[in-house]
Amino acid sequence: MKVEELYQEIILDHYRAKHHSGLRGPYEAEVHHVNPSCGDEVTLRVHLDGDTVADVSYEGVGCSISQASTSVMSDLVIGHPVEHGLDLHREFLQLMQSKGEIEPDEDRLEDGIAFAGVAKFPARVKCALLGWSAFKDAVIQAGGVPR
Ligand code: ZN
Repeated sequence: MKVEELYQEIILDHYRAKHHSGLRGPYEAEVHHVNPSCGDEVTLRVHLDGDTVADVSYEGVGCSISQASTSVMSDLVIGHPVEHGLDLHREFLQLMQSKGEIEPDEDRLEDGIAFAGVAKFPARVKCALLGWSAFKDAVIQAGGVPR
């Protein structure tokens, strides 16, 4: 199997069965983000426990890339320190802005590496970033970012 096909499979697996999907409580902040260029939407809640991301829950509609990326993001941040989640957001953002020139770090981004190919398609980058941007916004609103 070629790497592109493997990546496609990972994205479709997440899209078909989104991890941690559905809106849950308790939560400290809820945000709604849209990507008008593609029609993707996500409503996302974050629940912090001190410095830890205790839960991320969401409901979304849209293309497979936007929905799968949100699913992967939730896997990567739930149960980890807020700071770690924000670091991964930065790394994923860099990967998406690299036009395909950065080799993704599988140890850190796990299934997120499947989106490396998306970086070559500027129109789809916003799809892949939707859930991550919503996560960061929700963390800020929940007061999880040190000032
Ligand atoms: Zn999209």
